[in-house]
Amino acid sequence: MTGVLIDGKQVAAALRAEVAAKVATLPYQPGLAVVLVGDDPASAVYVRSKDRAAAAAGIAARTIRLPAATAQAELLATIAALNADPTVDGILVQLPLPPQIDARAVIEAIDPAKDVDGFHPVNVGHLHEGRPTLVPCTPLGVMKLLASTGVALRGARALVLGRSGIVGKPMAALLTQADATVTVAHSRTRDLAAECRRAEVLVAAVGRPEMVRGDWVAEGAVVIDVGINRLPDGRLVGDCATAECAGRAAAITPVPGGVGPMTIACLLENTLTAAQARRG
Ligand code: NDP
Repeated sequence: MTGVLIDGKQVAAALRAEVAAKVATLPYQPGLAVVLVGDDPASAVYVRSKDRAAAAAGIAARTIRLPAATAQAELLATIAALNADPTVDGILVQLPLPPQIDARAVIEAIDPAKDVDGFHPVNVGHLHEGRPTLVPCTPLGVMKLLASTGVALRGARALVLGRSGIVGKPMAALLTQADATVTVAHSRTRDLAAECRRAEVLVAAVGRPEMVRGDWVAEGAVVIDVGINRLPDGRLVGDCATAECAGRAAAITPVPGGVGPMTIACLLENTLTAAQARRG
C-alpha cells in the first residue's frame, strides 16, 4: 500500500472529546432520545453504541424500545411526546422500521429543531439551499475526514457514488457547498470506472462489496469508503477494494475504522448543535 489510511477512530475520538468539553461548559445537560422499534440485532448494536457514546460525552441519552408490532399511531404519539419534552434536544428514530410503519411519516413528525439525523424535509431543504442546519451524520463525518487529510476541495473534481437520501444526496450538497465540482453516479451511470478515474475526491456509498477496484482510482485521489458490507464468511468490507485502491490513492478510509466511528461522533455534535440552537 502507498496511500495513507485515514484513521477515522482518531478523528472521531477528537470530535467526541471536543463535544464533551463543550457540553461540560453548558448550564444544562443536552438530551438525546433514541427510538428503537422491534428487535433487529444490527439496529440494537447501533443504538447501544449511540447510547454509550452520548453518555460518555455528558449527554443525557435515553432509549425508548417499542415492540416490533407497534402501530404507526403509537409511534407518532411517542414522537409527539418527545417533541413536547423540553429536556429532549435530539430525537433519532433508528431505521429501518417494521413494514406496517411509514418511515417518511415518522421522520416528518419529528420537530425539525430536534431532528439530529437531519432527515426531515425542512433540514434537507436548508442543506440544499446552502444554509445547513442539522446535517445527516454520515456525510457530515465524511466532510470532517476530508478536512483531516488537508485535501483542497475548492475546484476539485469530486465523485459521489450513490444517490441515497441519507448519504449520496446530502454528500453531494456538502461537497458542492465546499466549492468542489461534483458528479453524482448511480446504478444507471454509463462507464462508472471512467467516471471514478476522473475524480480527485471519490466518496463511495453503494453497498456493493469491494466494487471500486484499484484501477478505478486516479493516482493521488482521496478515497472515502462509506460502505459497510458483511460477506458470507463474516468479514466486514467496504465498497472499495481497500488494498488495491490504496496502491493509487493518496489517502483512503479503512473499513471498519473509517467513516463508521465518525457517524456517531457527528450525532453527538448534532445533539449539541440542536441543544444550543433551542436553548440559546
Ligand atoms: P442505498 O442502497 O440507499 O443506496 C445505494 C446507492 O448506490 C443508490 O443510489 C444506487 O443507485 C447505487 N448503486 C447500487 N448499486 C450500484 C451499482 N452496481 N453501480 C452504481 N451504483 C449503484 O444505500 P445507502 O446510501 O443507505 O448506503 C450505502 C452504503 O453505505 C451501504 O453499504 C451502507 O451500509 C453504508 N452506510 C454506512 C454508514 C456508516 O456509518 N459508515 C451509514 C449509512 C450507510 P440507484 O439510486 O440508481 O439505485
